[in-house]
Amino acid sequence: VYSVYSTPVFDENQRIGTIFVYRDRTRESELDRMKSELVSTVSHELRTPLSSVLGFTELLLKKELKPERQKKYITTIHKEAKRLTNLINDFLDLQRMESGSQPYRMENVQLDQLVLETIYQFRHVATHELLFEDTAGGAAVQADGERMQQVLTNLISNAVKFSPAGGKVKVTLAAKDDTLQLSVSDEGLGIPESEKARLFQKFQRIDQSDRRNIGGTGLGLAICREIVEKHGGRISVESEEGKGSVFNVELPLRESGQAVDGREQAAN
Ligand code: ADP
Repeated sequence: VYSVYSTPVFDENQRIGTIFVYRDRTRESELDRMKSELVSTVSHELRTPLSSVLGFTELLLKKELKPERQKKYITTIHKEAKRLTNLINDFLDLQRMESGSQPYRMENVQLDQLVLETIYQFRHVATHELLFEDTAGGAAVQADGERMQQVLTNLISNAVKFSPAGGKVKVTLAAKDDTLQLSVSDEGLGIPESEKARLFQKFQRIDQSDRRNIGGTGLGLAICREIVEKHGGRISVESEEGKGSVFNVELPLRESGQAVDGREQAAN
């Protein structure tokens, strides 16, 4: 994509030619396109829960309804308002991370402790069998503990959300060569081959009838990827539809690869 500017050139009032300036705007127009795509996706994502809130409040205001029906509508309004709040929070969080306006607080983190704390939080809400297998021997990584917990929470929450009650959700930690490998596996719906690559992009959800009623913002995995990559790591997924999924996170180990007592502030 080019834009062209032209200026006539005069020599003592006599027009002797024209200067043409060609500017390559390929990259700018690509950025413009991405920006407007993001704006339209965000406004669509915000409008959907909002129209539901508006629709149901109008029904409640206009009609005399039986208490059970009122409660049903109010429950939907509450669910959608919550979804809206999560969406805005996740979106702002991701924007802040991407723009680098919130620096990471790197410290010496023992992931086994973090996994145990996170699983413990899910014990109260999930009806799943939550398992932890650790062969990493207390290996530590340089990481922002809070951000890493966000990754764990998102992955475990997805494993729970997209698998049936009573199913197994297993977190494993293992040290291999100079990386720490964390995986979260489930026995749930799985992910179609064609969707795997794009799931880590913003607002990508799988549009299948058995998933439509499962809440979410489509930002969780994009947040995970952003955090893992900022730690010099990688995130990927293996899955078979109908059988389950395994999300793998690979993080570089500390040079020493040794466990350190407690958390210490990193030199940087
Ligand atoms: P959200 O869960 O809020 O929809 P995510 O970015 O975390 O957004 O996930 C995107 C989509 O990937 C989900 O909507 C779901 O369809 C699919 N997905 C994520 N984790 C799993 C999983 N463990 N099993 C099956 N599908 C999953």
